[in-house]
Amino acid sequence: MKIPVAKPFMGKEEAQAAYDTILTNWVTQGPRVAEFEERFAAFVGAPHAVAVSNCTTAIQLALIVAGVKNGDEVICPSMSYIATANAIVHAGGTPVFAEVNPLTYNIDPVHTESLITPRTKAILIVHQIGLPADIDAFRVLCDRHGLALIEDAACAAGSSYKGSRIGSHSDLVCFSFHPRKVITTGDGGMITTSRAAYADRLRLLRQHGMSVNDRVRHASTKVLFEEHVEIGYNFRMTDIQASVGIQQLERLNYLVDERRKIAHRYQDAFAQLDKVRLPVEPAGYFTNWQSYVLYLLPNTGLDRNDLMQAFLDRGISTRRGVMTSHREPAYGDFVLRSALPVSEDASDRSIVLPLYVPMSDAEIDYVITNVLELLR
Ligand SMILES: *Cc1c(COP(=O)(O)O)cnc(C)c1O
Repeated sequence: MKIPVAKPFMGKEEAQAAYDTILTNWVTQGPRVAEFEERFAAFVGAPHAVAVSNCTTAIQLALIVAGVKNGDEVICPSMSYIATANAIVHAGGTPVFAEVNPLTYNIDPVHTESLITPRTKAILIVHQIGLPADIDAFRVLCDRHGLALIEDAACAAGSSYKGSRIGSHSDLVCFSFHPRKVITTGDGGMITTSRAAYADRLRLLRQHGMSVNDRVRHASTKVLFEEHVEIGYNFRMTDIQASVGIQQLERLNYLVDERRKIAHRYQDAFAQLDKVRLPVEPAGYFTNWQSYVLYLLPNTGLDRNDLMQAFLDRGISTRRGVMTSHREPAYGDFVLRSALPVSEDASDRSIVLPLYVPMSDAEIDYVITNVLELLR
């Protein structure tokens, strides 16, 4: 058997939607993008959604509209995909890396508060591999210190926190539609916001700072001239992508249900293992299980990298757990404000198992059997 670690779920509906959009001749920043935005906003329960080219540009724009300027500090976890930190740098800010909780891998509010200085402008929390961070704790922290709260929800489409969907809790929530996430548009991103002024500025910035958008100009019976009111970016989503996204959104509840069934089978099967710590889903937190990660306890004689090779020899692809950004060469010269032993240990001792839809019973059983053999 050959089992990948992940794969996107797309079918004829997505292909047909892309085909139909191409034949309309309206292929970027048009009606399909607007429709995807409306549907996504309704799905998560946010007043506004703004589609962009990917989640890295979504976070960059979110930081800009939140007022991050050159030299401002933004606190985020180092243990995240490196795009989290990179987006802060792209917005002119300086990432300040906070520690994570060893059970949830989510950014720790107590450690975060210890890192706040007069130069801190925002806190960028990450919903680690789909499991929400403690949004309320960070809301309190941000209010107390006058900081902006931004959510990197790249992996968290379809996840919920305290009964409402991620995307509905705060002013700037950023999603990814890269194929490694639960739904995909090839590449793509979305920012949800409750503030109309933020949505307007995000729409301006994603399209070169242009005052009249294409849909308004096309619909106008009078000649309209646009102005470029600030220096913007080209962070547009195409209508081809958006048409695929509309179909993917239709599938999101189903995909999350299926992922949860597979994850629960893993949880039941691996409960008997004493060399690993299983992932957790605390009460009030609902994860889409974007990834399923096992932590290998110390002093068990298990070497993570050897184990990954052993799985690969048996036809099972795995990945290392979430990276730490500060140990990548790109941040090699970066001075940490505080050591990050929990993040480093969690990153070094964790392994991502295959989880995708559809995953056959035979494939799930094959993974379970091999995990039990190799980790007993
Ligand atoms: C995937 C990911 C990103 C980047 O998303 P793109 O759409 O590829 O730009 C950012 N943050 C986290 C936590 C991610 O997992």
